[in-house]
Amino acid sequence: MTFEGLGLDAKLVQATDALGYVTPTPIQEQAIPVLLSGTTDLVGLAQTGTGKTAAFGLPLLQLVDVDQKYPQALVVCPTRELCMQIVSEVELFKKFMPGMHVVAVYGGASIGMQIRDLKRGVQIVVATPGRLIDLIERKAINLEQIKYVVLDEADEMLNMGFQDDIEFILQNTPKREATWLFSATMPAEIKRVSRKYMKQPVEITVGKVNTGNKNIEHQYYITAAHHRYETLKRIIDFNPGIYGIIFTRTKADAQNISEKLTREGYDIDALHGDLTQQQRDKVMGEFREKTLQLLIATDVAARGIDVQGITHVINYELPDDLEVYTHRSGRTGRAGNTGICLSVIHSREIGKIRQIERVVQVPFHKLEIPAGKDVCRKQFFHFMEKLLQADISHGDYETYVPMIAEKFADITKEEVLKRVAAMEFDRFLKYYENAEDLNVRDRPREARTDSRGSRDRREPTQERNFNRDTRGREFSGNGDYMKLFVNLGTKDGFYKASFLQFILDMSDLRKDVLGRIDMKEMNSWIEVDRKSAPQMIRAIDGKNYKGRRIRMNDANSR
Ligand code: AMP
Repeated sequence: MTFEGLGLDAKLVQATDALGYVTPTPIQEQAIPVLLSGTTDLVGLAQTGTGKTAAFGLPLLQLVDVDQKYPQALVVCPTRELCMQIVSEVELFKKFMPGMHVVAVYGGASIGMQIRDLKRGVQIVVATPGRLIDLIERKAINLEQIKYVVLDEADEMLNMGFQDDIEFILQNTPKREATWLFSATMPAEIKRVSRKYMKQPVEITVGKVNTGNKNIEHQYYITAAHHRYETLKRIIDFNPGIYGIIFTRTKADAQNISEKLTREGYDIDALHGDLTQQQRDKVMGEFREKTLQLLIATDVAARGIDVQGITHVINYELPDDLEVYTHRSGRTGRAGNTGICLSVIHSREIGKIRQIERVVQVPFHKLEIPAGKDVCRKQFFHFMEKLLQADISHGDYETYVPMIAEKFADITKEEVLKRVAAMEFDRFLKYYENAEDLNVRDRPREARTDSRGSRDRREPTQERNFNRDTRGREFSGNGDYMKLFVNLGTKDGFYKASFLQFILDMSDLRKDVLGRIDMKEMNSWIEVDRKSAPQMIRAIDGKNYKGRRIRMNDANSR
């Protein structure tokens, strides 16, 4: 098969010859004849490197009218790099087509220059979604006459949160005659977009369709809700070379955690909706240049962020929407690099992990939250590695070292290392010396038997009866329970169920330690297994709820 045989004009065949393309690649062979009709929609499942740019670029050049100096074809792609790459290839294909113009518009570059380029009269626009919307809003580009829309790397665009923008573009191209969508994977969201905006698309698959990004390793840690922050800190400390994005569900969380971690000496800043464009650019600039190690953001604020080399994406909390998980994790493992997406979850969220596993189609790994000692070891080795790799070839160290060598004459190498370590790690070691275990562990059955005395050894029928007894019992001063007073009630916005959830989350206890609960407007009384009550008081008494100090104590001791 030749390019000529696919139905391409002589000028385009001349260009492919000049580029040294001898035979069309499989996607070109299958797509070009279909696309040259100009009215057929296409879904191409193909990755970069398959020749897909030529597969849509050559037909576009043949279809647009070179004598009309307005945008007739629009190629939308996820990143500035891809945008420039597509334009430079199309430039080569149109080498023998004078009067044909193609322009790249993408974020992070002067919009004024791009507006001038557009004004010169172009037939083909290659754009990233964010910048394109910006240009539409400034009325610098008119999509009225667009006949052909190409969505390249559609899955990546959705991963980056551009879904609404893509739909906006598809809805605002009234004269669209053909839509061509290319994607390496086929998640449900792409299927939905294609069903909604395309007419019976021809589907072409080249190579293997990879269902999920195999470069991303998915991990999770289980902890109690009130240990979330501490767990996050420990994960960061356990990964000294981390360059990552942390996702929170709320703006307030992003802001608070960022402030707290900054105070504790971490290199982090927050990206959220309250920042001005200038502040946002500053934070993003620092993160991109890696002068900022960590970025904490809400999903909305992180929309469209495209930064290379991110090692970790951390879900401070799992998102409600499963698709959002894929958007978040897609920030790492890009351009052939590997990455880790890890989530801090509560034991009740395991089901959610299983659901996401089914969507992403790769198994998730449960990891132990590292113990304080492991964190110290990791930091220590990292520091020693840095010490060994320090570049000493440039400084004039020979002049100074002999002068101090005398001072070190009686000190062994081990001692020098210890001293260096002490200077670097004193704070660290102290902090982690008695660090608690943050993992939520499945308690063995014996443990439960213990806390319930001899009850579990009863016959099954007796046990069932006992449970029924517990439900129906009044506050009774029963020896098994301690009645606790707490200064929270319905006026704090709690219902019985949410209150239960709250105290169990806070104290990391199970539902079966609870007896009766009596909630009033201002205060509540809870029966808690006598052995577990001190743990609950320790976890809750003195903590804050919506800025108010919580008081919890033995109701009978007041
Ligand atoms: P793409 O998948 O569009 O990123 O293309 C991958 C690379 O293959 C690019 O460098 C193209 O120049 C090159 N290429 C595309 N089509 C052909 C072809 N038919 N023969 C040889 N090289 C090609």
